[in-house]
Amino acid sequence: MPDTKQGAGSGAWGAESDQQTDMNWIDLRSDTVTHPTPEMRQAMAQAEVGDDVFGDDPTVLRLEKLAAERMAMPAAVFVASGTMGNLAAVLSHCQRGDEIILGDKSHTYLYEAGGVSALGGVHTRAIPNQADGTLRLEDIQAAIRADDEHFPISRLIVLENTHNSSGGAVLTPDYMDSVSAIAKEHGLKLHLDGARIFNASAVLRVPVSALAESVDSVTFCLSKGLCAPVGSVLCGAEEFIQRARRARKQLGGGMRQAGILAAAGIVALDKMVDLLSEDHARARRLAEGLQALPAISLEQDPPPSNMVYLKLDPKAGITTSDIIQRLGKDGIKLIARDEYRMRLVVHYWIDEAAIDRVIQGFARATVAS
Ligand SMILES: *Cc1c(COP(=O)(O)O)cnc(C)c1O
Repeated sequence: MPDTKQGAGSGAWGAESDQQTDMNWIDLRSDTVTHPTPEMRQAMAQAEVGDDVFGDDPTVLRLEKLAAERMAMPAAVFVASGTMGNLAAVLSHCQRGDEIILGDKSHTYLYEAGGVSALGGVHTRAIPNQADGTLRLEDIQAAIRADDEHFPISRLIVLENTHNSSGGAVLTPDYMDSVSAIAKEHGLKLHLDGARIFNASAVLRVPVSALAESVDSVTFCLSKGLCAPVGSVLCGAEEFIQRARRARKQLGGGMRQAGILAAAGIVALDKMVDLLSEDHARARRLAEGLQALPAISLEQDPPPSNMVYLKLDPKAGITTSDIIQRLGKDGIKLIARDEYRMRLVVHYWIDEAAIDRVIQGFARATVAS
């Protein structure tokens, strides 16, 4: 699902002050809701800055270098959002009239406002995402176009890891390699929407570079589980990143004293990455507690990373909007996917006590009234 306020219950809580120190703040709508840590706020206040469009903001340069090193890629560019990173990547790999192959439940296909088509003139070829977030290799092969003037030119494959709409499913390095082999065989490029690639790396216990080594480019988000307030990084080859910088400028994403933001990103990479496995453990505990309730079943059992996708039994006579309303009174923020399905996202600001309160809230809300 998109990481937005869309969905049942949006707007039910009104304007809020900064609640980062409020113990009652339990927001499971997404990991995009994470506030910056005190260390980030301090780093931001003290950040050394320049003008990043002139290429002389030292903090942005430091973040880009660090990101490229982590991905074991030659270069990186700091962008305003994951959406901008994916769009700049597609614009830099493709020409107008080219076609990209991507999952029909991928974020780029569903939740990026059709930017690749609207702004890039790029055609999308969506093939089914399997329940584990993968695309079947046969489906990818079959989607690659022959050289025929009737057809758009197949140019790029886009994968997503972890796969948001598949419950936070994790793609393995072996799978990435198999897709990369197909891309190479046909002269296509491979882009990874790695918004949550650090979550995938924590689950698999492999460095992120092992998940990025088979791709031509990767985007990752600093502002989700890693808690930075703003920003993503797009990584790839030098020349590709130069094109992406131009695309970023075209998109209005050339920011000036962006070091203020990049400073938080550096803390995210240095300090927050190793904590993600704690989110995963808490997501599992949340899932176990919820599954023990008669009205609830899990879509992914156990949850693969930091998301819990659950279903309410329609026979229980309770809908997601009832749940949202009742738990809202306990200070717990949730959104629905539809009448009976929800996604709960665990992140840095959800501690053990919060998990207990959420389970208790669901227990009270789902008993027959
Ligand atoms: C959040 C997300 C993005 C980018 O989102 P922004 O809100 O634009 O930063 C991209 N891909 C996936 C899979 C995501 O979950």
